[in-house]
Amino acid sequence: MIGENPDQLWTKCDACQQILYRREVERNLMVCPKCHYHLRISAVDRLNLIIDEGSFLEFDGDLEPLDPLNFKDRMKYPERVKESQKSTRRKEAMIGGKGTIQGYPSLLGIMDFQFMGGSMGSVVG
Ligand SMILES: [Zn+2]
Repeated sequence: MIGENPDQLWTKCDACQQILYRREVERNLMVCPKCHYHLRISAVDRLNLIIDEGSFLEFDGDLEPLDPLNFKDRMKYPERVKESQKSTRRKEAMIGGKGTIQGYPSLLGIMDFQFMGGSMGSVVG
């Protein structure tokens, strides 16, 4: 997707399985040009689509989830968090901040489903 891996030339449609030229999909606003399926975009991509360029100021972007319950399922919670941080290049599932949308001052919060399914950790809470 747009912010996922900019070096990647090709991507695959999740619906029709066509191999697509990445730039063409981006120009088509992440809609498959073959079958018109709307491909998933990251929270950062969503942010970039709606906020006025250069206006966004993120709040608390350095916060990371805690593990007060010592939670473990198939893997320990901190390991799961690290995995999501690596794959999304974000510290947390939530992006929050302020900026302008078509000139209007706005506050927004966006959950990134690619970060542990947008689950509600301590920072999101
Ligand atoms: Zn398609």
